[in-house]
Amino acid sequence: MRITFCCSDTKQEPWLEGLRQALPQATVELWQPGAALADHAVVWAPPQQFFDEQTRLRGIFNIGAGVDALLKLRLPPQAQVVRIDDGGMAVQMAEFVSHAVIRYFRELDRYAEDVAAGTWSYRRPAVRADFGVGILGLGVLGQRVAKALAHFEFPVRGWSRSPKVLEGVQCFAGQEQLHEFLAGARTLVCLLPLTPETCDILNRDTLSRLPRGSYVINVARGAHLVEEDLLALLDSGHLAGATLDVFRTEPLPVAHPFWKHPKITVTPHTSARTLREESIAQITRKMLDLEQGKPVAGRVDRIKGY
Ligand code: NDP
Repeated sequence: MRITFCCSDTKQEPWLEGLRQALPQATVELWQPGAALADHAVVWAPPQQFFDEQTRLRGIFNIGAGVDALLKLRLPPQAQVVRIDDGGMAVQMAEFVSHAVIRYFRELDRYAEDVAAGTWSYRRPAVRADFGVGILGLGVLGQRVAKALAHFEFPVRGWSRSPKVLEGVQCFAGQEQLHEFLAGARTLVCLLPLTPETCDILNRDTLSRLPRGSYVINVARGAHLVEEDLLALLDSGHLAGATLDVFRTEPLPVAHPFWKHPKITVTPHTSARTLREESIAQITRKMLDLEQGKPVAGRVDRIKGY
């Protein structure tokens, strides 16, 4: 079995070494133009030339959960696209989102301001029952985040494409239930894959349907958010704050208004990082399952886009 590795923005040697150790029977090579045709590819943001040349691939393993950039390329039609599902990312996402929600709910920024001013002050605690958290996307990451927040007894609601029944989560599905879902979300968390259907989903119309004083947490992809609509709703006071980990252009341009906006917290696409060891173990297991015709978790449906 021949495996080709083509990942930009990644230290290549430890990945190659890890893949070779996990699959000693395979030939694992760093891709170069003109390389021999491989059976499987392990990729992150490869150039189109890679797929134009690697025409015989049976499996394309994306070293991330989101495949939006990959699916924009022309891929060999017979190849199965497989993504990382969880691989240590879900617990990171649960930490990150829980931290942001609790920071808003407990008004920790206001306390920090008071302390900085040398003021010992109490605030009336917010009512948990009124602080619904709405999660757009109830997949691997969305469900883990929902579980973490339900543990803190927040009223958790979630929205997905297909109907679901999840303990501790009020579930909504499809366009017809989106408005009802949004109306009960004091904090809205976006954990959708980026597809033509979900691009720009955080816009003036949807965000205006959140209760006044709501917060937005976008940890999925920058193109879910219409940036000027968020800024207008923050400036009008309809929204109280936003935590943004992903942006339409990354790195976030130096002059971008999000950097210094007092109601926006920026993090550099770091809410859930790909963990090398976990990912190599998962990819190699899935590769062997695919070879043996067994079911493989994280198979991407190219038509649905995730
Ligand atoms: P999954 O594929 O497991 O889950 C996607 C969820 O979104 C599913 O519940 C799906 O519904 C729902 N969904 C998709 N399209 C629609 C739609 N049109 N309407 C309603 N619901 C929809 O993905 P993950 O949870 O693993 O990851 C989610 C995204 O998080 C990734 O695609 C990636 O972009 C982003 N991400 C960001 C990271 C970061 O560091 N910021 C790190 C990792 C991932 P259904 O269940 O019905 O199919």
